[in-house]
Amino acid sequence: MRRVYADLHIHIGRTSAGEPVKITAARDLTFENIARECATRKGIEVAGIVDCGSPAVMADIDRLVESGEMVELPGGGLRYRDTTTIILGCELETVEDDGGASHHVAYFPGREEIRVFVGLLRRLVTNLNLSSQRCRVPARKLLRMATEVGGIFVPAHAFTPHKSPYGSCVRRLTEMFGEEGMQQLAALELGLSADSFLADRIAELAPLTFLSNSDAHSLPRIAREYNVIEIPAAENGAGGEADSFCPSFQEVVWALKRENGRRVIANYGLDPRLGKYHRTFCTACERITPLEPPVVKCDACGSDKVVKGVLDRIVEIADYPEPRPPSHRPPYHYQVPLQMLPGVGAVALGKLLNRFGTEMKVLHEARAEDLELVIGRKLAALVMRSREGTLSMLAGGGGRYGKPVTDEAEMQLSLGY
Ligand SMILES: [Zn+2]
Ligand SMILES: [Zn+2]
Repeated sequence: MRRVYADLHIHIGRTSAGEPVKITAARDLTFENIARECATRKGIEVAGIVDCGSPAVMADIDRLVESGEMVELPGGGLRYRDTTTIILGCELETVEDDGGASHHVAYFPGREEIRVFVGLLRRLVTNLNLSSQRCRVPARKLLRMATEVGGIFVPAHAFTPHKSPYGSCVRRLTEMFGEEGMQQLAALELGLSADSFLADRIAELAPLTFLSNSDAHSLPRIAREYNVIEIPAAENGAGGEADSFCPSFQEVVWALKRENGRRVIANYGLDPRLGKYHRTFCTACERITPLEPPVVKCDACGSDKVVKGVLDRIVEIADYPEPRPPSHRPPYHYQVPLQMLPGVGAVALGKLLNRFGTEMKVLHEARAEDLELVIGRKLAALVMRSREGTLSMLAGGGGRYGKPVTDEAEMQLSLGY
């Protein structure tokens, strides 16, 4: 068996010529820099880039293929420098009949298919060059459009209060897609503020594979969440040549659908308390609730002008009081990205990457005594505690990330006790 690391939701900030694609994303987040970062620093072997529908980005992709730096795989996907497969994706916003908006990512085997798909979008999207554009059709219709041209479809950050199926549209995904549509979904993306334990409290999600992706808007945030995919070693399936280690688009599709021996065997993600929308946030008193979920109104000022937390929303609509994972559900492991650990600044980060190679190695493999030699006892202990999941956390909400706290006094203070 071979295991590959996959992060399937990475944004593009600018094209190589500096034209904006996602305005809120970093300028150095270009197609080529993403491919290089995944291949060399992050250790990500399958990267889904979700702004490939932009014609300006497509020109960048064409150039990399023409120069030979990227090669189209027979089973779909593009191989970058023999180390990383790039999957071409397109995140879009759909609108239901009642006005509810949600984000979804469609992934395609290659340049040809995504071009055909973008051709269909021309009348529906105002500015195709920009990321996550509003597409004036309901999700069910976009699912059909993507599938018809050979793509797969994944609802994105499914529970966030802004622009997500459960967060801002429906109580049941089946209302949005219908029974038939549910079967066509390739997977469901959990988003940073949720995990499998929470999502498995909703009965209709049992058949779906869960994805934990970074939704990165800058290079360092790539792989803050990722998936481990298992592929039988003996053959290369519909993928590339026998000596290629890069899985193809087809391999990824099989893994999501759990076919032909391929599957997602683990999710790695933030402790959901670290996510930006984990708990309900009152916009009047700017406070994140510390009370038992679901909190749907501010418990301090009574205002209903709140950004409902992902945890609060899930508890509100759950079928079960405890998770009921189906037998195929893989383990979900928490990780705290190095840049979120208090006291780990640029200098410590640089030293760690120098010594251990990639962030994945530091987070999951490096031994405590080796870490101590590089960053000292205190910080090494923090990395170990984050690996064991024993750090205390202050939950995020309303667009503010949660944070690990090392000090009980700070915890009490922040909670306002
Ligand atoms: Zn989105
Ligand atoms: Zn996104």
